[in-house]
Amino acid sequence: MPWLAIPFSDLDTKKALNRKFDVESIPSFVILQPNDNKEEATLHDGVEIIYRYGVDAFPFTKQRLEELQDEERARHENQTLTNLLTAHDRDYLLGHPTPKQVSVASLRGKTIGLYFSAQWCRPCVNFTPKLISIYDMIKGKVLEDDHDGEDFEIVFVSSDRDQTSFDSYFNTMPWLALPFGDPNIKELVKHFDVKGIPLLVILGPDGKTVTQQGRNLINLYKENAYPFTDAKVELLEKKMDEEAKNLPRSVYHGGHRHELNLVSEGNGGGPFICCACDEQGCGWAYQCLECGYEVHPKCVTATTPNSNTNTNR
Ligand SMILES: [Zn+2]
Ligand SMILES: [Zn+2]
Repeated sequence: MPWLAIPFSDLDTKKALNRKFDVESIPSFVILQPNDNKEEATLHDGVEIIYRYGVDAFPFTKQRLEELQDEERARHENQTLTNLLTAHDRDYLLGHPTPKQVSVASLRGKTIGLYFSAQWCRPCVNFTPKLISIYDMIKGKVLEDDHDGEDFEIVFVSSDRDQTSFDSYFNTMPWLALPFGDPNIKELVKHFDVKGIPLLVILGPDGKTVTQQGRNLINLYKENAYPFTDAKVELLEKKMDEEAKNLPRSVYHGGHRHELNLVSEGNGGGPFICCACDEQGCGWAYQCLECGYEVHPKCVTATTPNSNTNTNR
């Protein structure tokens, strides 16, 4: 490190600082202002700020951060497919069979999913086949219903580590991709503040962000999630609440030895990872409070307590 340090042996000062700044986990980066020792001027989320804004965050004042947030808001308001997906020397994406090129302009007016993923990432590799089957169903549905030229496309935004893994992963996908290592990828990761993959960002026909929760919506509602708008999600939530009224309050599920209770967002539930299908969930769930075991209602394989005991023997 090129900076200063509190001596290793000075436990008292370290303890006092931990207490003063309420440090609960590391890394923690607290930033103090030179002429303002008041608590309001102190930034506690320095790690997040550095990740997000880098050197631009200097001198770390509240005012500077507000400016950066305004700039960020403006960037999202002015967002278009062209400025997200093209560069001065590239106006196309990769299609199949490679090296087919598909112009970004041809995507205008479509609902687009930006799929941040990589072959080294287990949850990504698990999610991709699901996404492919949902993609096929949405494409089929859109064609069938003849939605006025409406269409859906996905663009793979790769965090693969080398060209070979990119090629073999992209070969399994029926949709388009940004070229491996393209400079736009880094910018997209920053623009959408991508903290983990897989992530499916949905853009509307006008190129603006509809939601970053594409993966979650697909897990919950499958192809019915299309076109992922607030209005559609509200409709689906209502329908799910209706259906949940008919679900039993508690069940015995083949994959767990205790009785599971029905919970919802405002009622003991919240975002979770389903222990049956390993995917994210939110809204209604069956939960074992004791073990923290939680599954989607659709993933329950109902069983009776007796037969459950038998399997455990
Ligand atoms: Zn599940
Ligand atoms: Zn349990």
